[in-house]
Amino acid sequence: MSLDIAQLRSETPGVAHRVHLNNAGAGLMPRPVLDAMLGHLTREAEIGGYEAAGEAAAVLDGVYDSVARLLGAGRDEIALTENATVAWQLAFYALSFRPGDRILTTRAEYAANYVAFLQVARRTGAVVEVIPDDAEGVLDPEALARMIDGRVKLVAITWVPTNGGLRNPAAAVGRITRAHGVTYLLDACQAVGQMPTRVDEIGCDILSATGRKFLRGPRGTGFLYIRRDLLRRLEPPMIDHFAASWVAPDRYEMRPDARRFETWENNYAARLGLGRAVDYALGLGLEAIEARCRALSGRLRDGLRDLPGVTIHDLGPDPAAIVTLSVGDRDPDRLKAALTRSGFNVSVSQPSSTLLDARARQLPALLRASPHCYNTEDEIDRFVAAFAVLSRRD
Ligand SMILES: *Cc1c(COP(=O)(O)O)cnc(C)c1O
Repeated sequence: MSLDIAQLRSETPGVAHRVHLNNAGAGLMPRPVLDAMLGHLTREAEIGGYEAAGEAAAVLDGVYDSVARLLGAGRDEIALTENATVAWQLAFYALSFRPGDRILTTRAEYAANYVAFLQVARRTGAVVEVIPDDAEGVLDPEALARMIDGRVKLVAITWVPTNGGLRNPAAAVGRITRAHGVTYLLDACQAVGQMPTRVDEIGCDILSATGRKFLRGPRGTGFLYIRRDLLRRLEPPMIDHFAASWVAPDRYEMRPDARRFETWENNYAARLGLGRAVDYALGLGLEAIEARCRALSGRLRDGLRDLPGVTIHDLGPDPAAIVTLSVGDRDPDRLKAALTRSGFNVSVSQPSSTLLDARARQLPALLRASPHCYNTEDEIDRFVAAFAVLSRRD
């Protein structure tokens, strides 16, 4: 089923103001997300925060069902967090490692995850190793299969990285980790909301994601999936009286579900916004969103590729909707500033956000343009035309 673009745009207030090509940073919220949040904030002001949460209790509870539906998981396997990094950290730091244990990751791994690997390696004597890529720069599942031995404790990878449209083969990795009983942690930040992200198809044990990017939820939202049987064995590195009940002066009992990774106090307006964003994406259909994102980012790459001096840097045979580029040695921050003045939102991806990949490919800071389904072909063409003029100037 294809999308009704006119309707999508009429439900997206931001398109009246900007050509927004920064969905890998934060997608434009649709009107229902905004309304859910504004409505709740208004009720908090009118009747009190606890009272407003009480009034919205059923809807708030339904957010777990929405996220579970999005991921093909059970609602007891979902925790809501204030961002994806916290979700990832809570799960990663709950795992235990001994000297010589191996953590396998990708060359495109996100900086936040990698520094945590380094810290845990330093503390425990575990070692971090990078799974080789194939000739096209995509994680090579066969190379991963050859690396597996009894010391591999964790495979932790990024599905779609922050610095380009590369899609790592998340499900192929899942088949290997499942076959060998190795824990698999998937960073799905740039995938969720852009393509189907079902854990029952991927076979990961843990998944972390953010609300604000292609899912088009509010900033400061994220969620964590942990497979039920792993969950039972995993105690969060930090707990409060929501995660565990204080049942006797010298004893606590962990919650049985994934919400043992949450704390008591929450931003309920943001949660309601996240829930609406998930429902909105499910309503459009993730296959339809993915097809549209693929078409628009393909058009963008085709337009940019022909411009003199422009190099496209993202990898893989079927890239996602994150296009990264450079123009000779032109400063991407200045290009971005000029684009901003012309009404185009883009961002800059720093080498330090994916250091291994940036070193391996000698990448400078890159301009990053990430369209979403509500963008139009005309917006893409206008962006390419503006960029053609800009990239010729010095
Ligand atoms: C944005 C991003 C994150 C972090 O998400 P937050 O919600 O900002 O914590 C993690 N991994 C990747 C690949 C990202 O692009």
